[in-house]
Amino acid sequence: MNNLILIGMPGSGKTAVGRHLARVLQMSFVDTDDKIEMDSGRRIPEIFETDGEEYFRDLESACAAECAQLHNTVISTGGGMILREQNMRALADSGRIIWLNRPIEDLAHTNLSGRPLLAKDQNRIYELYAQREPLYRKYAEIMIRNRGSVSSIIARLLHMLPKHLHLAVIGDPIAHTRSPQIHQAMAAQSNLDLYYEACHVTSDEESLSAFVRRAYTQEITGFNITIPHKTAIIPYLTVIDDYAASCGAVNTVVVKNGALYGYNTDGDGFIAALARMGAEVKDKRILLLGAGGAALSICKKCSLMGAKQIAVLCRTPSKAQSMQYRGETRDEAVVIDEFTPQNMEKYAQTADIVVNATPLGMSGIQEDYTDFGFLDALPKGSVVCDIVYKPAVTSLLAACERRGIRCCNGLPMLIYQAIYAYEMFTGLTVDKQKMYEVVAQAIGE
Ligand code: NAP
Repeated sequence: MNNLILIGMPGSGKTAVGRHLARVLQMSFVDTDDKIEMDSGRRIPEIFETDGEEYFRDLESACAAECAQLHNTVISTGGGMILREQNMRALADSGRIIWLNRPIEDLAHTNLSGRPLLAKDQNRIYELYAQREPLYRKYAEIMIRNRGSVSSIIARLLHMLPKHLHLAVIGDPIAHTRSPQIHQAMAAQSNLDLYYEACHVTSDEESLSAFVRRAYTQEITGFNITIPHKTAIIPYLTVIDDYAASCGAVNTVVVKNGALYGYNTDGDGFIAALARMGAEVKDKRILLLGAGGAALSICKKCSLMGAKQIAVLCRTPSKAQSMQYRGETRDEAVVIDEFTPQNMEKYAQTADIVVNATPLGMSGIQEDYTDFGFLDALPKGSVVCDIVYKPAVTSLLAACERRGIRCCNGLPMLIYQAIYAYEMFTGLTVDKQKMYEVVAQAIGE
């Protein structure tokens, strides 16, 4: 079972933290004191006064036994729940016990007059603390100090609960994103509890900054980024990885200790997709069609991986010139030229790998390649990667298949870039080939 059980002194913030935690993790929430009051129809001070503490403890044990049957629930317990071992055994079997440890100095300055055991003499808090502290310590699997805001406690707690992740993808449009499905499949494979939300964040600055503020409250442990925010997110980052900076684009942000770390996993996703076809870029000549965001990530990664030449063909070479000047060490390997049938054929003659990084042939896009003559110029053994993944077989890929040219669509790149992002979010190192199969099956490919 996968409950989270909060224990701690009266006034230690279990209810506030528990409610918030449940909301962040999309879990149900139960407060045992509230449940006892609701089930019995009486207030707890009244139960203590008329029937005594032992009677209340019996109600509490019955409540613990009932709560231990719940699933996916944050259970905030009364301060004395730990007094009976049977309670803790039942609850521990249902999930993880977290001790919300509020320092006695803070408790002593809190008004606890509503608590039955402290109503007459609040100084009894010292005695209760001395009696219960060893029990909280004994039963807790995780101890977290209650210092700072509820959000900051949740943030620390989430880092101590690697089983629980809250991720998101932001973009506009976002309705058709496959990221939630892909990440859920990976989380299930690693036995992690993941809540992954698709957030519609429009291109206006306020929409993005509102999302970033939310991420900074650390309710979100990481997020993926798609069009149109891959570049716009950069000023919001605390740290940007060198490769992502050279691409001028970020597709993965990890939120850690109040800081945002930006990465770009498209390049690694592309390299892994090529490897799946048995191809690698070191010392190879690459014909890259298109010079947009995806092309730039691919170009930079191929350059880093030791490609001999990357010929980038695009409609507006002047725009693409900037690709060469973004702090890359091997930019001499990059040649930028015009996207013409003549140039396609010219560079195809020596190309080991052809990459389509334009939207040509993509579902919903009117334009497509009309002349596949350049494929006939390719040396034997060359491969073609069309990073478009919808449709699964673009007209470019169909033309390759007719000619017996080894080729793949953009799905492997999509899946591998997600696997790399997932490793960053979770800190796990996964078996990428196994994970690939899991994801491909989950998304029905
Ligand atoms: P982008 O930034 O808009 O760049 C598109 C590039 O294609 C630009 O260089 C553009 O040239 C060029 N282009 C557009 N229409 C063209 C045409 N009719 N003839 C020649 N060139 C044309 O887009 P992107 O983000 O790089 O994405 C490109 C494609 O890759 C999309 O289909 C996207 O879905 C796919 N993609 C796949 C993955 C994956 O994981 N498989 C990842 C990212 C992207 P101009 O600058 O001159 O307009």
